[in-house]
Amino acid sequence: ATEAETRDLVIIGGGVAGYVAAIKAGQEGMKVTCIEKRGTLGGTCLNVGCIPSKSLLNNSHLYHQILHDSKHRGIEVGDVKLNLKQLMKAKEQSVAGLTKGVEFLFKKNGVEYLKGTGSFQDEHTIKVQLNDGGETSVTGKNILIATGSEATPFPGLEIDEKRVITSTGAIALEEVPKKLAVIGGGIIGLEMASVWSRLGSEVTVVEFLDQIGGPGMDSEIAKSIQKILKKQGINFKTGTKVVSGDKSSEGVKLNIDSAKGGKPETLDADVVLVAIGRRPYTQGLGLENIGLELDERGRVIIDSEYRTKIPHIRCVGDVTFGPMLAHKAEEEAVAAVEYIKKGYGHVNYGCIPSVMYTFPEVAWVGQSEQDLKKAGVNYRVGTFPFSANSRAKTNLDTEGMVKMLADAETDRLLGIHIIGPNAGEMIAEGTLALEYGASSEDIARTCHAHPTLAEAFKEAAMATYSKPIHF
Ligand code: FAD
Ligand code: NAD
Repeated sequence: ATEAETRDLVIIGGGVAGYVAAIKAGQEGMKVTCIEKRGTLGGTCLNVGCIPSKSLLNNSHLYHQILHDSKHRGIEVGDVKLNLKQLMKAKEQSVAGLTKGVEFLFKKNGVEYLKGTGSFQDEHTIKVQLNDGGETSVTGKNILIATGSEATPFPGLEIDEKRVITSTGAIALEEVPKKLAVIGGGIIGLEMASVWSRLGSEVTVVEFLDQIGGPGMDSEIAKSIQKILKKQGINFKTGTKVVSGDKSSEGVKLNIDSAKGGKPETLDADVVLVAIGRRPYTQGLGLENIGLELDERGRVIIDSEYRTKIPHIRCVGDVTFGPMLAHKAEEEAVAAVEYIKKGYGHVNYGCIPSVMYTFPEVAWVGQSEQDLKKAGVNYRVGTFPFSANSRAKTNLDTEGMVKMLADAETDRLLGIHIIGPNAGEMIAEGTLALEYGASSEDIARTCHAHPTLAEAFKEAAMATYSKPIHF
């Protein structure tokens, strides 16, 4: 390619990491090309992850609430029916609107979009197998790998996305399974268990560890949400591993065993969801052609400026280190472009919120109590239950609490953990507080509007160093 044809940045992958980097680079006046093979932009998150799952969570919650939580509010409804086809259609509309929106933003910011599969030919050249047939190549001064992740398969249980499914199958089932077994009680497992249980499935979640919620969730919070979800009708088998599974025309039989070894049992299901984590995706990327190696978990190895050992090739998002979260990918994408353009960038990895969109939601930021104990940190705990919050009482949604952890000597906030309606929105306040190095007293002395759920946040802060007013 001539100098004029060489792009400032070529991005492989148009997921959250890739598309955000592309827009940012366009805004910075760079000549940028983004290669995506899916046919639509937005990656896992917009197409088969965050967005479709939240559509199903929202609408299945409404359905469940109308059925089971409306009469005592003074709302009597007649014949309530589930129209699963329409529920899926609503989901598809949300997805299509957002993916097309990204395409519009590409045009607005002058990003070139190539629909195809990219692979390294050499350190500056990416070969693209076009979706419409044919091949082209593009050269870049800088390259960004943003190829994301895929579901980790369960050995011996072949995924067909009908009977043995990943999250991709779980957001597109054509009928409500009578019995759904979920392998893995992490975020995907619990969100999907909630959706299908609300729509009428008998759901059993099998989790290897003694605690549900996946990595990072505070143990007290995990116990509490497990109780709440159990009350909603989800069965749990914690401390239990799935040893193997057999698929037949009748369904799937899982052989399960206590994690510590014990009496083997079987669990019958019509559909099995495999939700045991995700793994980085680098298939067909041709990393071998440029001598880039992966770590033991298949992640692309990078330094603190997102550079691989070939400095003009950087990498962000699920395919490299850190939590597999869309907002983490987004932060990294902006920072990586800033490193290229300006030489500096910023992501605070101690301050990345997590949200599980069950009902009630679970959200946290910073360290858990078990993290602090392990690190030998001297800390104080303040909690405030939503059962003592006026807005929660008014809304008749009183399950959950806010829990704050602060340094015993300096009162600096170290972690915030919430179970409650809207916890996912409320955690933004906690994230800001943590980012700015606030103390619990800083929050407690900040005026919060009444009556709001956020007052529980303020009162948990009060409870950390003094006493809350309403509990
Ligand atoms: P991806 O989104 O996986 O995008 C990578 C893209 O690269 C893909 O579109 C792929 O087709 C493309 N690609 C790969 N190789 C090539 C190639 N060689 N050439 C061209 N294109 C290629 N995170 C949250 O923060 N909140 C949530 O609520 C949430 N919910 C989720 C629900 C589910 C069911 C799942 C599965 C995930 C969820 N996540 C959530 C995680 C989130 O989706 C990921 O963290 C995020 O998508 C990572 O973005 P990424 O761009 O790194 O990777
Ligand atoms: P995860 O790592 O959160 O949870 C997997 C769970 O499966 C763990 O608790 C693990 O102990 C368990 N497990 C593993 N092997 C098992 C076995 N053989 N038997 C029983 N249990 C077993 O992974 P996930 O839930 O698949 O999610 C994947 C990624 O997607 C995560 O990084 C998650 O953060 C992200 N995601 C985020 C959201 C959100 O932010 N709301 C939603 C969905 C997915």
